[in-house]
Amino acid sequence: MNLAKWLQRSAMLTPDAPALLHGTEVVATYAAFADRAARIAAGLRRAGVEPGERIALFMPNRPDYLAIWWGAWWAGAAVVPINAKLHPKEAGYIADHAGARLVAVTDASLDLGVPLATPATIDALAAAEPMPEPEPLADDALAWLFYTSGTTGRPKGVMLTVANLVAMSLTYLADVDEVHPTDAALYAAPMSHGAGCYNLMHVMKGARHVVPASGGFDPAEILALAGTLGEIHMFAAPTMVRRLITHAQAVGHDGTGIRTIVYGGGPMYVADIEAAVARFGPRFVQIYGQGETPMTITALPRPLVADRAHPRWRERLGSVGIAMSSMEVRTVDADGRDVGVDAIGEVICRGPSVMRGYWENPEATAATLRDGWLWTGDMGALDAEGFLTLKDRSKDMIVSGGTNIYPREVEEVLLTHPDVAEVAVVGRPHPDWGEEVVAFVVGRTGPVDPAALDALCQSQIARFKRPKAYFAIEALPKNNYGKVLKTALRENLAAMPV
Ligand code: AMP
Repeated sequence: MNLAKWLQRSAMLTPDAPALLHGTEVVATYAAFADRAARIAAGLRRAGVEPGERIALFMPNRPDYLAIWWGAWWAGAAVVPINAKLHPKEAGYIADHAGARLVAVTDASLDLGVPLATPATIDALAAAEPMPEPEPLADDALAWLFYTSGTTGRPKGVMLTVANLVAMSLTYLADVDEVHPTDAALYAAPMSHGAGCYNLMHVMKGARHVVPASGGFDPAEILALAGTLGEIHMFAAPTMVRRLITHAQAVGHDGTGIRTIVYGGGPMYVADIEAAVARFGPRFVQIYGQGETPMTITALPRPLVADRAHPRWRERLGSVGIAMSSMEVRTVDADGRDVGVDAIGEVICRGPSVMRGYWENPEATAATLRDGWLWTGDMGALDAEGFLTLKDRSKDMIVSGGTNIYPREVEEVLLTHPDVAEVAVVGRPHPDWGEEVVAFVVGRTGPVDPAALDALCQSQIARFKRPKAYFAIEALPKNNYGKVLKTALRENLAAMPV
């Protein structure tokens, strides 16, 4: 089937319902949203775009993003979302690698080596009579070609089919949250990534889609929109949750108007989610996924995030929850043998949302998809109740004196210090031990005393896990999705005199 059927259905059912909002201003009803998508589809087909061809989007969040996206789907094309913060050279690489027929942009002066469609071009395409029905598609048709954010090497194109995205959406409804037509899906993170994925279930249910006027993440704006629009749903990376809560604490906001914050995409430290639940109450759901099985591996449901009375509440908060209904999750050794309860192994998973493979990269596909299982590259442990606790990406694990040390464990401890705002623990090459543990620390009000941090570690974790050096740093290097770039920190270390 064609996913655009969901848009068509919502437009038939609730034509006058608000669909696309810019800030608080409604810019399209469902009838107008579907009409524009169907017109863009007709324009694309008239311009020679065939079903299965790729249309890229390299633009910041804006309401028309969704019309172009669904228009491409309506025409039977696949969408290639490119993070708007990438360098034009990086975007050009992706557009070229994907064989995109055209790239929708807001900046007409770009040179990406692929034909551009500016907002004016899109308007011209949309002048055509609408394509009456979405192009019929097979379930294994390519729908989304998503380039991984990868901190090393060239990004790889994850091939997601119609069936993958149907599975992602239905699993969301089963395990993450309900979606109501009165909801307002707020895009405070790039629509080219996880936050954008969540537009599908909101189109399916005829809910509102809100692009903040700032186009991005501004805590004050989000709380103001929550007050005006109500029933806000948003995806937030853990660093965004932390900033939102810090702001809400400062202004005394209790989260009224926000229905659900789905967090994930990186480690959420226990101290942070505890503070978040204390301020906002039961509004949080955690998901663990990756581009290769978008937003869909495990979930920590709302009642479990908020259930302070449970004897193992804190432990569960430190986990990423339980396998979603459509997923099988295992932890295995390098040969694919189960490591058993509570032991650490690589997380592998299987289910209908798992990608078909990497675009034109059979070697990477063969290394990642083995016997139908997706090897995530994440290390984790499953407890007796099925809760998965992630340790670190295998490449971030520190091996010191032959012992594995998981940076996150050390980070969790350091973060409990009241003067620590952010922290990242990495391994530094050591002639005797292979690697030694060092910590980069962002203080709330300037450098934090290393002796105090060391005393804290001594009281909480084994001696061999304690950082051997602390570096005060003003901000941690992060990629465009807010993920800490440990590779960059390791490079900094390599360049430092020992
Ligand atoms: P990406 O493919 O760019 O979305 O990155 C996916 C990776 O982010 C996963 O393989 C994990 O390493 C990490 N990740 C995603 N969700 C979580 C989570 N809830 N907790 C910790 N790490 C996460």
